[in-house]
Amino acid sequence: MTSNRFDLRGKVAIVTGGNGGIGLGLAHGLADAGADIAVIGRNETKSAAAVADLRARGVKAIAVTTDVTDKAAVGAMIDRVVKELGRIDILINNAGMSIRKPPHELELDEWNKVIDTNLTSAFVCSKLAYPALKASGNGKVINIGSMMSIFGASFATAYAASKGGIVQYTRACANAWAPDNIQVNAILPGWIDTDLTRGARKQVSGLHERVLARTPAGRWGDIDDFAGIAVFLASPASNFVTGTAIPVDGGFSVMA
Ligand code: NDP
Repeated sequence: MTSNRFDLRGKVAIVTGGNGGIGLGLAHGLADAGADIAVIGRNETKSAAAVADLRARGVKAIAVTTDVTDKAAVGAMIDRVVKELGRIDILINNAGMSIRKPPHELELDEWNKVIDTNLTSAFVCSKLAYPALKASGNGKVINIGSMMSIFGASFATAYAASKGGIVQYTRACANAWAPDNIQVNAILPGWIDTDLTRGARKQVSGLHERVLARTPAGRWGDIDDFAGIAVFLASPASNFVTGTAIPVDGGFSVMA
């Protein structure tokens, strides 16, 4: 370890959903601290743009086109990252999606799709990356929850279940992998301006105004708001921090 405890040079990070939105904001932070990055997503055009952006920050970056709900594809992705970038120190389980319907209207296949993408993928990626994270000697897993890890919303049926589940999954892994010096934490974003929430704003009338009124910071979050927390949770600076769920929400979760 260098004298800078936030230094990520020599480390390799996998960021699922790293080709846009919050995932790209997290990847920016890691790259600026020196980590090489594997960007995981399905959209090759978005991934190529993200890789070019990250390389311009002076690190190695590769895109591995992968559907994180496909266990065999995740296994091949992990093998490729180790082969091309040499190791895995940091895994960010960020890929996610939502289907916005009340509980009585959501179909089983829709429920399964959201749970598979947001929760089961984190289990599969973490399980398959575990040998490399253990070999790293100071592995870091960062899972992306939501305000729906804490609160409910009528249109967030499977989404809230997946995001509540990911916090409990984080706590279980933190216990299991502490002896391997792997820290496992969750980030709970507030309302952040991304493709995901642009969709929500179109579907849920009045959402934009409600978010502004309900967020003490008085604004939507930006993807740049995630660079600092990514570096902290991925670096030796957080070596005694594990099993936490940290809101990055402009105060949304503490407003009375
Ligand atoms: P975006 O829609 O901008 O990004 C979602 C990312 O997930 C994309 O990079 C997408 O890549 C990837 N992805 C989705 N499904 C799959 C899949 N099956 N396999 C591989 N990659 C997949 O959304 P956000 O940036 O807003 O969301 C990122 C995370 O943050 C999600 O977990 C979301 O739930 C969470 N979050 C977001 C909030 C917000 O306000 N924006 C608030 C709270 C939590 P591709 O399309 O290439 O597959």
